[in-house]
Amino acid sequence: MTHPPKPELHPATIAAQAAGAIDTETGGVVPAIHMATTFVRDADYAPMNSENIYLRSHNENTRIAERLLSALEGAAETLLFPSGMAAVAAVFRSIPNGASVLVQRQIYWGTTAWIRDFCARRHITLQEVEASDPEPLAAACASLRPALVWVETPSNPWLRITEIAAAADIAHGVGAKLVVDGTAATPVLSQPLAHGADIVMHSATKGINGHSDVLAGSLSVADAGSEMWEMIRTDRNMAGAVLAPMEAWLLTRGMRTLPLRIREMSRSAMTLAQYLSDHPQVETVMYPGLSAHPGHDVAARQMTGGFGCLLSFVVRDGSTAALRAAGRLQLFHRATSLGGVESLVEHRFTIEPHTGIPEGLLRLSVGIEDVEDLKMDLAQALGQ
Ligand code: PLP
Repeated sequence: MTHPPKPELHPATIAAQAAGAIDTETGGVVPAIHMATTFVRDADYAPMNSENIYLRSHNENTRIAERLLSALEGAAETLLFPSGMAAVAAVFRSIPNGASVLVQRQIYWGTTAWIRDFCARRHITLQEVEASDPEPLAAACASLRPALVWVETPSNPWLRITEIAAAADIAHGVGAKLVVDGTAATPVLSQPLAHGADIVMHSATKGINGHSDVLAGSLSVADAGSEMWEMIRTDRNMAGAVLAPMEAWLLTRGMRTLPLRIREMSRSAMTLAQYLSDHPQVETVMYPGLSAHPGHDVAARQMTGGFGCLLSFVVRDGSTAALRAAGRLQLFHRATSLGGVESLVEHRFTIEPHTGIPEGLLRLSVGIEDVEDLKMDLAQALGQ
């Protein structure tokens, strides 16, 4: 049984109580794991439970996690997918052949690479634009008249900030839908739907799950009756890009501490960003919490409670110096991904050398370790 969340409750309360999920069979405060792939009918061939026919379309653990995410996101409905990329693909598969799409430049490389390939195969015109500046975004929208505008804020790994309300006005002005990848912010720090976005997407693999042990993606919508959403929902059911019950259960478990984790990570990331800004071996720090960051004012308006766990910095003397520093780190694991409780470091130039990424850029995902330990680790790795 799940009670609808009380609207006046704060995110930490909604999350801690998993939006009211209680196991009515046992009275357990933690929901049971429902692994059944199929559900019985009675002698008159009526389903024993009209909400459950077959796992591809119906699972209680998925529903619980989706309801919780909707409550945190302020969404009419949420759909979970087996990865963030499956959620990205679900949006783009709803775009008709021959249409146009406008996508922010220099976002998560996996998204860009897949969209380029998909649009080429489906004869969809793709234009990439610097969306953190509303002027080129408006100009590109006016000339292309896209069906969809896709932005990512804060962007990974550049930490660019796009003003969601401005992007929504521009997109809606030409009849386009605005989809925001809010992975780096999570619903704790920003709710893009409240700023006018039509759909917010997350790689729930990251901060939402937060324990580096679930691959998942989500789409949350403002208007569950829109034609695009109907198409996405139908396609998920029929084509089967669904999250497995165990993963959905783990995701609910992870989300119970989401506000707590994200607040702590944001606080530590801010401390480390300030520390790195003053470090002689560091050329630039990209973190929207810093007042010198070009997107700081917008971020301060549209993010609440912090600026997230993701920060990038450029080490002086390029690739060799950056790799040397990464190699010396003792606490930050050298691994891709972000948003987990353990801190990670990544040399993005090794992964995407042809995308304009600075050779000396190191991306940090700041975890929940003691920030003084993390600072000491960076100090010894950078040589001061
Ligand atoms: N969007 C962003 C911003 C990401 O960082 C990632 C993964 O790193 C994705 C989407 C893709 O998500 P997943 O790895 O869960 O498929």
